Amino acid sequence: MIKLSELYSGKAKTVFKTDDPEKLIMEFRDSLTAFDGKKKSEAPKKGYYNAQIAAKLLTLLEDKGIKTHYDSMMSDTEMIVDAVEIIKIEVIVRNIAAGSLVKKYPFKTGQKINPPILVFDYKSDEHGDPMINDDIALALGLATRPELLEIRKLALLINSILVDYLDAKNILLPDFKLEFGRRKGTIVLADEISCDTCRFWDKATGESLDKDVFRFDKGDLVAAYREVARRIVPEIFELT
Ligand code: 5GP
Repeated sequence: MIKLSELYSGKAKTVFKTDDPEKLIMEFRDSLTAFDGKKKSEAPKKGYYNAQIAAKLLTLLEDKGIKTHYDSMMSDTEMIVDAVEIIKIEVIVRNIAAGSLVKKYPFKTGQKINPPILVFDYKSDEHGDPMINDDIALALGLATRPELLEIRKLALLINSILVDYLDAKNILLPDFKLEFGRRKGTIVLADEISCDTCRFWDKATGESLDKDVFRFDKGDLVAAYREVARRIVPEIFELT
């Protein structure tokens, strides 16, 4: 496969066209931002760890029967994915109260949430990713009612698969963000699942092993991402 021109560059990934119109290359970069891009930094190997973690988790979901855009890895940081039409909804699943949920509502950090909370945000930097409901999503034409139902069902299924998988690695999953796309009439999981898009807490200590380390200056970001990689993709450490 040949990497062609850049299609889109986001805060942490760049997407390229390829010589196959059905495939794109998603490159995971070492840059990171938080708070609507107000806080910015670079972290060596962060793109590598996130790419490897995302590849493993997307493959896990594929193996469990969830359709995703994942195809294969082209290099350590470049993922070949199916071209999909991205649905402009950020789907957030919460199992343990943290982050904006605690800021906005009377939940206590660490409080278990069962059944999980599912929230839709409008994916729009211009509007600050505001929370929306089904009526707003429908009125904006972001998705149809059957698509919203399918997204909800898939997000909860993905959550239960990830919670069980991560628990066995001594990682708690307080919350995470998913994005979906349309491909040939079906809804597929798109984007990434990584330390940038999930809260990962060490099961024994509650220590953050995710982007909160950067957001709230909690210590060594690369060490935290490396620790998640060590637990989820130990095979990449055996090579060196
Ligand atoms: P919160 O609403 O607490 O800020 O975020 C909830 C969860 O969704 C966190 O795991 C966070 O990483 C993820 N999340 C929410 N919005 C975004 C976003 O715009 N970008 C990324 N990378 N993650 C997000």
